[in-house]
Amino acid sequence: MNKIKFTIDGKECFAEPGQTIMEAAKANGVYIPALCRYEGLKPAGSCRVCTVRVGRGHMAACTQPVAEGMVVENIVPDLEDMRKSLIEMLFVEGNHLCPTCQKSGNCELQALAYRYQMLVPRFPYQFPVRQVEPVGPHLLLEQNRCIQCLRCVRGVKTTDGKAVFGSVKRSGKKKIAFDRDLAAGLSADAAKKAMDQCPVGALLKKEIGFMVPIGKRKFDQKPIGSEFEDKRS
Ligand code: SF4
Repeated sequence: MNKIKFTIDGKECFAEPGQTIMEAAKANGVYIPALCRYEGLKPAGSCRVCTVRVGRGHMAACTQPVAEGMVVENIVPDLEDMRKSLIEMLFVEGNHLCPTCQKSGNCELQALAYRYQMLVPRFPYQFPVRQVEPVGPHLLLEQNRCIQCLRCVRGVKTTDGKAVFGSVKRSGKKKIAFDRDLAAGLSADAAKKAMDQCPVGALLKKEIGFMVPIGKRKFDQKPIGSEFEDKRS
């Protein structure tokens, strides 16, 4: 089947039929930042960090399929500032205390804040009061750090395919909930996988939080997106 030709920030790219802009960008060595996307999970388009411009419209790169001749704008000042503002919004909406967080150095939100050189957010801090809850024998849910990406809802399943997590309530009260009986049956391996899928320190497998010291973790070694060509000026 013929490849689809399109451009991202002027770079000529090729996509397989059915590929999303995000998938095709990755295949062509172009980084599009994202938080809710996770390899192997159905895209949700919920965080909007991957928003790109096509013509005069804005779309989530993780859900929008590529079309022949598409002209995609990605690393341009207004979109980059929009992404930075989303990161800032997520920081003020929860309680993200990086120096004490078990996920520091492995956290994608923190890594993006570094990428966008976030200092003082442009929005006021909300300081919400939220719970920390045990999820079965091996996991903790730290609601203060949850960014509602829904990766756990899509990705944490029992061996017979039942979803352990769900999203409940709406607007400012929206939160992640879980089925206690299903959570009780999650193995230690499943708990570790859930922790790895969570982009922040909201899902933590018990007893391994500081096994790898801060300073030697994933984004301590290489900034997020550094495996791609850097188009920022
Ligand atoms: S617990 Fe983690 S994976 Fe689940 S919605 Fe919150 S941030 Fe996303």
